[in-house]
Amino acid sequence: MGNEQNVATMANQEQEFGEEPLEVRESGHYQDEYIKGFAERWDDLIDWDGRAASEGDFFIDVLRQHGAKHVLDVAAGTGFHSVRLQEAGFDVVSVDGSPNMLAKAFANGRKRGMILRTVHSDWRWLSRDIVGRYDAIICLGNSFTHLFDENQRHRVLAEFYSVLAHDGILILDQRNYDALLDNQGDGPSHQYYYCGDDVKAEPEHVDEGLARFRYTFADGSVFHLNMFPLRRDYVRGLMREAGFQQIDTYGDFQESYKHYDPDFFIHVAQKA
Ligand code: SAM
Repeated sequence: MGNEQNVATMANQEQEFGEEPLEVRESGHYQDEYIKGFAERWDDLIDWDGRAASEGDFFIDVLRQHGAKHVLDVAAGTGFHSVRLQEAGFDVVSVDGSPNMLAKAFANGRKRGMILRTVHSDWRWLSRDIVGRYDAIICLGNSFTHLFDENQRHRVLAEFYSVLAHDGILILDQRNYDALLDNQGDGPSHQYYYCGDDVKAEPEHVDEGLARFRYTFADGSVFHLNMFPLRRDYVRGLMREAGFQQIDTYGDFQESYKHYDPDFFIHVAQKA
């Protein structure tokens, strides 16, 4: 076995998918997926400079338009948006359910001369861990997809709703799974978000209940994420049921787009 394969095998052994990886469809399983080795490599996958260039000031502009000051980044990951928004003058609290990702976010903040305020919390019990109300919640980088159970999606949106101020907004994005499920378009061609060099992110298995992605890094290590393939209009419906009054959905940051073209949808949901 070559060295690259050795590294890949070792890395794989750390992620726990058991004997039937396609059967792993659990909302809490992200904890076993964002292991230390993956958290360490996540920034190779997203490449902060490339990502900043591709999304521009989209989120900053939306937040300012809505007069948001206090922002809760509920899927902080390695801290990309928390750092950018704090640099832009927002008051940010960074939440994640994975201690590995949160530790990396904190370290990334330190590298840029800031102390991120981090809270280790699972969205399903968010209001237990979060004090006060926020002007905005951001849940970005295709994170909501980790919830496999419909009741838990309802519950999480209710939790988000409850920690927002009366006129707060939720900004939540998702991969365009409609294109993937309906076998339309040419996959993640535009590389928004996942724009690191020498890193491959590709679907390994897709059905109506599972999108299993494989991430291959330059050092030969391989990781997987099991996600629920959210359809765009389903998510909009969930948000409406949670009580959000207006939901605007952008495709790759544009207001008008053809359904199957964008790689990502970004929902901006208003409470009032
Ligand atoms: N927002 C970051 C980005 O764009 O780079 C991270 C995105 S990563 C795909 C998803 C993040 O959501 C992970 O850091 C994971 O730990 C977190 N996450 C998934 N399910 C969660 C839950 N139920 N509660 C809290 N965090 C969760």
